[in-house]
Amino acid sequence: MSDCIFCKIINGEIPSSKVYEDEHVLAFLDISQVTKGHTLVIPKAHHENVHELTPEIAGHLFSVVPGITKALKKTYNLKGLNLLNNNGEYAGQSVFHFHLHILPRHGEEDGFK
Ligand code: 5GP
Ligand code: ZN
Repeated sequence: MSDCIFCKIINGEIPSSKVYEDEHVLAFLDISQVTKGHTLVIPKAHHENVHELTPEIAGHLFSVVPGITKALKKTYNLKGLNLLNNNGEYAGQSVFHFHLHILPRHGEEDGFK
């Protein structure tokens, strides 16, 4: 998709801080860093939302998530994390290329007492 920000990140037109990459999946730091280490995991093929993912792509994408979360846990010494995925504008999706948010939680640093 020529006007998709995440497709541009995949093909290198827009720079990103890569966390993980293989033939079908890319993970990179979210530009907004809601918490330190906030990462997005995306399929390299353009699929707008969860409904459009094939079982193969969904399966592969989720199969690499534990490796990514373990690496983030080590790098950022995180205490917990949220996995989040928005589908459709009414659910808060703003980039229409499927992405899974990994939101590290750092305890008091995030305001959690
Ligand atoms: P959504 O609201 O669709 O679930 O999440 C889209 C996410 O993409 C947002 O958290 C936003 O900060 C991130 N984002 C938007 N544009 C860029 C960009 O150019 N680079 C990176 N790294 N993240 C982006
Ligand atoms: Zn795309």
